[in-house]
Amino acid sequence: MSTYDLVILGGGTGGCSAALRGANLGLSVALVEKAKVGGTCLHWGCIPTKALLHAAELMEGVHEGGEWGIKSVVEQIDYSATVAKRDDIVTKNYRGLEGHLKHAKVDVLAGHGRVTGPKQLEVEGVGQVTATKALVLASGSVPKSLPGLEIDGRRVISSDHALMLDYLPKSVIVLGAGAVGVELASFWSSMGAKVTSPSWRSCPAWCRWRTPSPRRSWAAPSRSAASRPWSTPASRTSR
Ligand SMILES: Cc1cc2nc3c(=O)[nH]c(=O)nc-3n(C[C@H](O)[C@H](O)[C@H](O)COP(=O)(O)OP(=O)(O)OC[C@H]3O[C@@H](n4cnc5c(N)ncnc54)[C@H](O)[C@@H]3O)c2cc1C
Repeated sequence: MSTYDLVILGGGTGGCSAALRGANLGLSVALVEKAKVGGTCLHWGCIPTKALLHAAELMEGVHEGGEWGIKSVVEQIDYSATVAKRDDIVTKNYRGLEGHLKHAKVDVLAGHGRVTGPKQLEVEGVGQVTATKALVLASGSVPKSLPGLEIDGRRVISSDHALMLDYLPKSVIVLGAGAVGVELASFWSSMGAKVTSPSWRSCPAWCRWRTPSPRRSWAAPSRSAASRPWSTPASRTSR
């Protein structure tokens, strides 16, 4: 059995911030994470989306350059290079975060944690971990589907799958026009995909569909979504 002042379940943005703050205040801290520290934001959210949006911005820059007297054309998108750059950015940030936690003397306990008492966790492969001051639950969230719409990782994919695609779809329907949906729609549109976004706030019965034309049309290297089975990593499917 291990005992710490502060025990945190979940090493995402919330958990890491709490851990670093606790360590800063001189507490002994354990951070329990079943996947990778950094959580959604670093691996499946903010960072990979912003990396891809930067690529989209570069595309837009090429297309709009003519208006500024800077004439250029997009010859080809090597999407494998885009993906490699995205992964490189995520990996560097991940390594940086790991180093930061180590430097702050936060003990990262790798494994699935289960609450077994008011200030107690059972961590797979580690055993019982007890907090003397506080147990912080920072287990975050995972993508959720709609009734009757099964996320199969092929035709129906979540934002997790979308960010990890290693090809550009020719056409895509983005369901949900919150920040995540709009960012993905904007990215694909800039890269030449035909993006359809059901406008369901104004029309909940899906009676009206907005189909923006692709921002620019050009021959994107694309493979059939059906031939690319994507599975959500087990660590992301349930909490
Ligand atoms: C596509 C996308 C883009 C986004 N872009 C932005 C943005 O630009 N700006 C912004 O502010 N926010 C953005 N967000 C939201 C942001 O990612 C979340 O608000 C943030 O990650 C929430 O942090 P969290 O620590 O609460 O949870 P999470 O980041 O989900 O972390 C929870 C962690 O807990 C771990 N965990 C869960 N259960 C257990 C268990 N039982 N045992 C051990 N570990 C466990 C998980 O593995 C995970 O690492 C985006 C989200 C998405 C999906």
